[in-house]
Amino acid sequence: MAGSLNLSSAVHVLPCPNCGETINTSVQQCPFCSTPIDPAAAEVSAAATSRISQACSDASYLKVMAWSLLTFFCLMFVPFVGLAGAVGLWFLRIAIPVMVVRWWIKFGSIKTDDPDFARAKRAAIIVGIVGLLALASAIPLHSHP
Ligand SMILES: [Zn+2]
Repeated sequence: MAGSLNLSSAVHVLPCPNCGETINTSVQQCPFCSTPIDPAAAEVSAAATSRISQACSDASYLKVMAWSLLTFFCLMFVPFVGLAGAVGLWFLRIAIPVMVVRWWIKFGSIKTDDPDFARAKRAAIIVGIVGLLALASAIPLHSHP
């Protein structure tokens, strides 16, 4: 039995459908509440769980990029490193919208009431707005002679 399970793939984690404790796909019943675990349903749930955690970690990258954008913006006013700030700002003005759009394509269709995913989605919206503002603010700067 253990052998056939190992053949399919590695062990994945998922929340127990009954009590919500974190369990993995190798168990036949929940160690916390003893609910029997259906292996097929567990795999589906584990796949959704890993997709949600991927969405959350990608969203935290987006937040880091948005903070870097602000940092580079401030750097532009610092003597000697102003050029580095401007270069970083130009890079992030392009990179952030691209990454935000990529996030929505990958994870925008996920339907879950997971609070972590809700937070990730909110972060993706805020970073998207920051990215658009940065892009918009770049246009008048660019038209300078
Ligand atoms: Zn349980």
